[in-house]
Amino acid sequence: MNTVETDVLILGAGPAGSATALMLQQRNPAIKITVVDHADHQGIALGETLPPQIKALMEAIGLWEQFQAEGHLPAYRTQSVWGNDAPIENEFLFQTSAKGWRIEKRRFNRFLTEAAASRGVGLMLGATTHFLGKEAGAFQFQIESKAQETLWLQARFVVDATGRAAWFASKMGTNKVRFDNLVGTWRVYEDSTPASDGHTLVEAVENGWWYSTRLPDQKMALAYMTDSDLLEKSSLETETWDGQLDQTKYTRSRVADHGSAENAMVVPAATQCLDTLCGEGWIAVGDAACTFDPLSSQGVFKAIKSGIFGAYAVSDYLSGNQGALTRHEWMLRDAFETYLETRAKFYQQEQRWPAAEFWQRRFEWITLSPDTPLIATKAAPQKISKTRYVISEPEEAFILSLCQTYKPAHTILEEFKHSPLRYKKPRNLILGLQYLLGENRLST
Ligand SMILES: Cc1cc2nc3c(=O)[nH]c(=O)nc-3n(C[C@H](O)[C@H](O)[C@H](O)COP(=O)(O)OP(=O)(O)OC[C@H]3O[C@@H](n4cnc5c(N)ncnc54)[C@H](O)[C@@H]3O)c2cc1C
Repeated sequence: MNTVETDVLILGAGPAGSATALMLQQRNPAIKITVVDHADHQGIALGETLPPQIKALMEAIGLWEQFQAEGHLPAYRTQSVWGNDAPIENEFLFQTSAKGWRIEKRRFNRFLTEAAASRGVGLMLGATTHFLGKEAGAFQFQIESKAQETLWLQARFVVDATGRAAWFASKMGTNKVRFDNLVGTWRVYEDSTPASDGHTLVEAVENGWWYSTRLPDQKMALAYMTDSDLLEKSSLETETWDGQLDQTKYTRSRVADHGSAENAMVVPAATQCLDTLCGEGWIAVGDAACTFDPLSSQGVFKAIKSGIFGAYAVSDYLSGNQGALTRHEWMLRDAFETYLETRAKFYQQEQRWPAAEFWQRRFEWITLSPDTPLIATKAAPQKISKTRYVISEPEEAFILSLCQTYKPAHTILEEFKHSPLRYKKPRNLILGLQYLLGENRLST
């Protein structure tokens, strides 16, 4: 059986994995890099919108000229029906206006992986990976290639870029912390309108929001975003889908005359973050580390950015800089904490259905007074689960240890500022305290 030795194994050839490979190769061409993905990027995938700032990242990995030649559709504007019945021509929801792009995701992934391969990165697509453990400082894998050949692979360093599955990080014992249960139901329609008419539209409804965007090849993708527990069981059936679409004012008119839709599918879209983003000899990048609400149109941008900075961290770490991985973790945490604040602001702008569960969950009002004394209850520890909500295990443990006697909420905030968990933004920490009160882990 063949044995492959590599310095860095990147698991996942999505935007984050490819960006890590491209930047690492650029920064240190002597490092041997192998990328393995269990998918093969064939066929088409759903469309996504990239913000204007993607240009700087594509330049950093040396692909800006080629990206422009790929023929992705320009996206000059996003329209939103959000907080108001009338559509507003606006920026990319989370930022200022300029030209962005609407990409077909799988084609974009192929573009990045082919660029990495052409620069000498080893690439195995359609391959199944089994983690065998760590021996003599190297991670050991058994890999079955697409051609069903089995080989052993040894890596000094592993980058988890497996998307929201965070496959390798979960093998390393990490937990996911979730902030909602958002899912998207998608359908793709034939679209005969001129390409210039293909702005992205976001339209809020009582139990969620709709997203519609043009794809290349005369197609239009529609997504209905809601929480998994609010999604009707029959949501994939055409009748239910059409009934939900009828609740929209503008989205339905975009596909009123369009040809048959491809079958609907459901994709997870929850905001989540790992409680540990790096360890001895590994890091997580992109969605494997943390995911952003699709409302932000920031997922791919953030994935590529974290891949680029992840590559710096790996390169520095392999050159003997032990602090490089922790710095990577802090950078990701800081970006995620800021994102959580921005996300709350956008959802708070929609007040037309104040009693609807979907919106109530996202208003995230602060109700806890700074002087409220809090104490840990004797509630049984949470069920052991790979998924936690709102607050990570180390954060909860720290709060509960502080609250063995009554502590005012503002003292807890102060203690966090001087702790290893000081990345936590005050607002997000207060929401965590409110969550623990709701779960009866704390009481007043
Ligand atoms: C409904 C929806 C709409 C979105 N719209 C937008 C948008 O408009 N704009 C935007 O920027 N972002 C959008 N996003 C987010 C964006 O798709 C992601 O943030 C981005 O793709 C993350 O890139 P990644 O490389 O980290 O992960 P992914 O793109 O998920 O790539 C992960 C890769 O890892 C592979 N993999 C998984 N497990 C394994 C394993 N065990 N071994 C080997 N390989 C594995 C997968 O096959 C995949 O190729 C949207 C997301 C959703 C859910």
